[in-house]
Amino acid sequence: MAALAPSVATAAPLPPRRRARPLLLILLLLATPLLAEPPPPSRLSPDVTRFIVANSEFTMLHEMGHMLISELNLPLLGREEDAADQLGMMILFLLSDPQRKAELDADLLAIVDYWRLEWQRPRPANEQVPAWDTHALDEQRFYNIACLAYGSDPDRMEWVLRVTGLPVERALYCDQEFLQASRALDWIRHHNRRVAIQRRPRIQIIYDPPPSYLPDAELLVARLREGGLEDIARRVSLVFAPPRTLTLRIAACGTPDAWYNRDEAELTLCYERLQHFRELAETLPPERRPGPQLECAPAYKALQDALTTETEC
Ligand SMILES: [Zn+2]
Repeated sequence: MAALAPSVATAAPLPPRRRARPLLLILLLLATPLLAEPPPPSRLSPDVTRFIVANSEFTMLHEMGHMLISELNLPLLGREEDAADQLGMMILFLLSDPQRKAELDADLLAIVDYWRLEWQRPRPANEQVPAWDTHALDEQRFYNIACLAYGSDPDRMEWVLRVTGLPVERALYCDQEFLQASRALDWIRHHNRRVAIQRRPRIQIIYDPPPSYLPDAELLVARLREGGLEDIARRVSLVFAPPRTLTLRIAACGTPDAWYNRDEAELTLCYERLQHFRELAETLPPERRPGPQLECAPAYKALQDALTTETEC
């Protein structure tokens, strides 16, 4: 009861000047957090941005694999989902700049890291991939992608073995797996070349309004555009020349998904999937993130340095 006494005392009317002070204090308290917050030129760090962009591009290339299988009537043995992963990876290699191998390496690291996180993250039963699914298990997709990355250049890509733990029993044959996939891509390009030069290929891109329930959706798609999303679509359409105009739509779906719709000739990449990549990127351990370190050393050494905590550059 004694503690209430002072407040009872201050309840008496105050002179106007003193009454204004609490209001001023409240305004200052309200304003302080806004003033203290630094202006956000980007709310995404370079490492998180790379993870989102590289994996969004790979998702798009996987769906473009489905698109090519359908639009070019590609002969197929085995699971289409496995073929789409292989096509996505091989197109990634095809479009990469040979003068910027460190960029490709960092993208590959982001992609294998994603599949490891996807495989190992706890998830409810309704999100588990069953053995009968058309997709391989995430763990298998992780090793398949790691194998293609390593097999693309075993001498230079030794880091893949260290980072992914790809067993030597599989790694021994990864160069052959890469060669098979590379020959398949060459076959597709050669088979399609004669008709391709007669076509006016086009993949149009439509950005649906970002959903209000994903406040960062606009920022994420902006990073994707800066990262070269539209250039990839343009180059895929030039290289493979689909027989009809196709659409790439960035859309709100209510689920972190992506797909190719043959009837509509439309590839959808969901804003929710970009957000999913962002959330997973935040769980990467810092020493595994290929970040600004890559810019201060020769390409391969830089990547190795970025992957070890004891090396500074
Ligand atoms: Zn698929």
